Amino acid sequence: MRILDEVAGAKTIGISGHIRPDGDCVGSCLGMKLFLEKAMPEAKVDCYLEKPADFFSCIKGFDQIKTEAPAEMKYDAFIVLDSVPQRTGFAEPLYNSARKKINIDHHISNKGGSDADCIIADASSSCEVVYDVIDKDLLDKDIALAIYVGIIHDTGVMQYSNTKPKTLRTVADLLEFDFPFSRIIDETFYEKTFVQNQLLGEALLGSSLHHDGRIAVSIVTKELLERYHATSMDLEGVVNQLRLTKGVDVAIFLYELEPGVYKASLRSTEAVDVAKVVVEFGGGGHVRAAGATLPGDPEASVQLLIREILKQMDGK
Ligand code: 5GP
Ligand code: MN
Repeated sequence: MRILDEVAGAKTIGISGHIRPDGDCVGSCLGMKLFLEKAMPEAKVDCYLEKPADFFSCIKGFDQIKTEAPAEMKYDAFIVLDSVPQRTGFAEPLYNSARKKINIDHHISNKGGSDADCIIADASSSCEVVYDVIDKDLLDKDIALAIYVGIIHDTGVMQYSNTKPKTLRTVADLLEFDFPFSRIIDETFYEKTFVQNQLLGEALLGSSLHHDGRIAVSIVTKELLERYHATSMDLEGVVNQLRLTKGVDVAIFLYELEPGVYKASLRSTEAVDVAKVVVEFGGGGHVRAAGATLPGDPEASVQLLIREILKQMDGK
């Protein structure tokens, strides 16, 4: 795909990504917005996202993110990034009403169905796909920084198995633009507030091992979050730490989004395809990182997830 061919002639372009936006979502949406504004100065380009974490303010255009959808707006083109259109929350009606619907993503669980799909399951991140669909002669420091943030977040700073030689070549091109990449990694990825570290401690203290230590489980209730005056955004990184437990092949982390409704985050080693596990529960994601929203008793949900995981582990 060349994005300028897809949006040619559009006077209004809307952009959105998934609910509870992460680094790849924010980076790909703002990177796309910055690129389109530069390539099509006559067009109006709007980005709709739930309010992202403040540390993403290092990305240009952060202050222009719209957190509410206007009632009457029909975009000439609407681009959904890093998500299926059904996971964009308040922005979904804007996608549905747009004249041309475009979907750019890297989730293997995304089966497409827009007017123009570009879903590359091999790509490390949606930001890597954005890099591929934009015209490189317009790349600048601000666009490069936005794309870089998404790649470091979705690859765990070029560490997870989705990091390919091509990912590193893309990163090499981005670093030609002189931005403070080391500080950006610290501020947006590694740095935790005191409360976030305390919650990580709580989640690990409360964790348990199953199936000969191959599955680690932790559940965090809303009551615990409230005790720390925290939100679910303060739990980023917990599931990765659980997965790093020696001997563990799959980490299951459940946290309560609203009373009785839990978000499940799964991480795995090569032993288990967790995207396949969560699809059974209406979720999605990647082979080694996936999630779903699960109503009902969390302990029962864990048992159901473990049952699906064991089908793969035991070859049942
Ligand atoms: P996380 O566990 O960090 O929330 O998500 C891991 C991966 O799975 C991310 O790429 C995320 O977009 C995807 N994912 C998480 N929850 C869901 C969900 O409920 N539905 C879908 N389709 N994907 C999800
Ligand atoms: Mn992503």
